[in-house]
Amino acid sequence: MNKIFLQISLLCSLTLEARSLEVISGGMCSGKSAELLRRLDLCRHAEQKFVVFKPAKSFLSDSIESRNGSSREAIVLQDEDLGEIAKTLDSDKAIKVVAFDEFQFFPVQIIQEIYNILHDKNFNVRIIVSGLDKDFAGKPFGPMGDILAMADRVEKLTAICHVCKRDNATMSMRVVENTDVVLTAKESYVPVCRDHLHIPGE
Ligand SMILES: [Zn+2]
Repeated sequence: MNKIFLQISLLCSLTLEARSLEVISGGMCSGKSAELLRRLDLCRHAEQKFVVFKPAKSFLSDSIESRNGSSREAIVLQDEDLGEIAKTLDSDKAIKVVAFDEFQFFPVQIIQEIYNILHDKNFNVRIIVSGLDKDFAGKPFGPMGDILAMADRVEKLTAICHVCKRDNATMSMRVVENTDVVLTAKESYVPVCRDHLHIPGE
């Protein structure tokens, strides 16, 4: 192959890979954080600098934690500080990958921030989002519906259904009688398939 053509092809493939938005989604206990950590580990091996953001909800820790015990530090963002994402990228052009964990708990305004970053020629970053796609009623959770629509690539993971034990659980069933959208105690939910979902109050 012509050497110049090869160099141009390589440059194009690297560019396409860099500016992208991928979403890891699914119900509870489906391994979303473990998959995010796996992708970040690959970035580390590839010597690609990355930064991780997490929403500032009092019940969340300041790291990404998977159920298999691995973890990684994250920058905790208050709802009013979403502008810090672009500022962080602007101040350190070596950052090639931006990750978000527990994305369902960010305010919906984060969608515009991510849109701006994706369409700003000054930034050439790969964005990876991990989050719970549906709330206990099976409806889109916070900004998850919009980010899934914007994504270039989506991976939806499943868990084992608490009732039928098949690997088809895509829903998070609330097992306490409470209809608040945000209820965080993990023992308040179990993963179930659509056939075995019961919504409190229905
Ligand atoms: Zn089931």
